[in-house]
Parts: sequence; C-alpha cells; structure tokens
Amino acid sequence: MDSFTIGAAGAPCSGCGAPTRAEHVNVTVWFGGELNVIEEVPAWVCDRCSTEYFDAETESRINRLTAAGFPRWQAAREMPVAIFTIYGDQAAKAAVDGREEVR
Ligand SMILES: [Zn+2]
Repeated sequence: MDSFTIGAAGAPCSGCGAPTRAEHVNVTVWFGGELNVIEEVPAWVCDRCSTEYFDAETESRINRLTAAGFPRWQAAREMPVAIFTIYGDQAAKAAVDGREEVR
C-alpha cells in the first residue's frame, strides 16, 4: 500500500526544510497488480526534494478510491502504459546481472 504524506498547507518540507509550493500532481497507485493514476491532485511540493504533501481531505479521497479498488466505472479515462526494463533483452540482463543467461 502506498502511503501519502500529510502536510499543512504552505508549511516547509518536514524532510529537508525547504519551502513548498501549491501544485497539482498525478498520483500513481499500484493496486491488484494494476497501475492506477489519479490526475490533478492538489498537493504542496517541496522545492528541493520534491516530496509531495497532501491535506487530510485529499488523502481521504485517495484512500477511498484505493479502498474501493479503483472501480473502472469511476475512471475518467483509460490509457495504455508502456512497460520497460533497464536491460533491453535477456542477454543484456545476464550481462548486467553478471550471470549466465538461463535457457
Ligand atoms: Zn524537501
């Protein structure tokens, strides 16, 4: 389960102390093996470390969507997601991992 950081509006970052600014962000949540995206979520974002802080109401709304299992009928839209690896192919994976390719 992803966790979201609650923060007071406009408060400095509790992690590094830098100022935060109001933005809208996309929140991604893996649920049941599927990637879900929540668009245009109001957040306070740290200028230095990019930690995103949400108020309690926003966190509650995210948690309600998660508890409901991200029902498809509530989705605003769907989009395909491209999946990559850092390896490229199995031979490259073996080289990167320092192991022989298993056939
Ligand atoms: Zn920070």
